[in-house]
Amino acid sequence: MKLVVRVKLLPTPVQALALEATLHVCNEAATWLSTQAFERRVFSRAGLQAMAYCEVRARGLSAQPALHVLRKVADAYSTLTANLMAGNLGKPGSQRHARATGKPVVFREVAAQPFDDRCLSWQMGERTVSIWTVTGRMKHIAFTGSPEQLAVLEAYRKGESDLLYRDGQWYLIATCEVAEAELDAHPASFVGVDLGIVNIATTSTGTRHSGRRLNRRREADRTLRAKLQTKGTKSAKRRAKKHAGKEARRARDINHKISKRIVAEAQRTGRGIALEDLGGIRERARLRKPQRVTLHSWSFHQLGAFIAYKAKRAGVPLVHVDPAYTSQECSQCHHTDRRNRPSQARFACQVCGFVEHADLNSSHNIAARGWWTWVRGAESQAPALTLIA
Ligand SMILES: [Zn+2]
Repeated sequence: MKLVVRVKLLPTPVQALALEATLHVCNEAATWLSTQAFERRVFSRAGLQAMAYCEVRARGLSAQPALHVLRKVADAYSTLTANLMAGNLGKPGSQRHARATGKPVVFREVAAQPFDDRCLSWQMGERTVSIWTVTGRMKHIAFTGSPEQLAVLEAYRKGESDLLYRDGQWYLIATCEVAEAELDAHPASFVGVDLGIVNIATTSTGTRHSGRRLNRRREADRTLRAKLQTKGTKSAKRRAKKHAGKEARRARDINHKISKRIVAEAQRTGRGIALEDLGGIRERARLRKPQRVTLHSWSFHQLGAFIAYKAKRAGVPLVHVDPAYTSQECSQCHHTDRRNRPSQARFACQVCGFVEHADLNSSHNIAARGWWTWVRGAESQAPALTLIA
């Protein structure tokens, strides 16, 4: 299974200048080559190589980066062609179509650039990289990442990485080929996972991942952000941005922890995992406004993606189920009624009298639906490429 891991680089000012100059030279060469390609109607990689390899090299690139530039240009045109064919850029004759086809593809000055092992080496122990730049090889560029990212990187990194500059920060996006366990084809049953606000995740095995502390924290974050927004000064904006980054990192760490525990439990007990199909999560929320904001901004999609890739790695079957009415359905007698749920936390069946915590009841329903989905053979599609950022 392929994964991409994004780590942040911590270059010194001198190293940062070298990186910047490198992206500039690569992208200038790419834009130049793209113009040549456009004028001469040569778009294949081999064609471009025969036509302009020497000239690309003469623009200050060594052999490998020059080949990457050739490929980047060829890829850009094949993506464009694919988009045109799919009708994503309007019909032939339309203004949009004409704009897309009437001029060569242009690369931003700091567009991402791929580096292979010959141009980029990783010193995992020292947590540094050494990278080819137009001003020579830059050694000892420090990088940082979460423990999870670093572990995956160390064990599975393979092939190319993209150098990326975004919002004043440098990143490397590394491709990792992660070993997968064989899929458990005979799960004993399914762990149903109910996602929510008060409890981020409740499993049908009774584990509750509370969001209370986190929600309080987010409430405070939101107040601060609103304050900074009304202030509107440059430094306030900078602070707001920094703060948003911190909040995202905290959410990601929590999602990693929760997903790890859920998958570990399923694997240990020989079960599969049933997740709600996340498309419905917004519509389902009929709540007071502040909670609604919390739900919308919580990264359930990220949690779902983390569970998906960890399950795949562990060979744990994963199914997605339709979450409609899981909160109103009785997990014992299946009577479904809005009145079955007198409060946010409480489930009390109007027919059979079954009483349980509402999230736990939902998770049982999700587990049951997961089992049926599995039996019917509708396997879920885990995303092919997950970003551990
Ligand atoms: Zn009932």
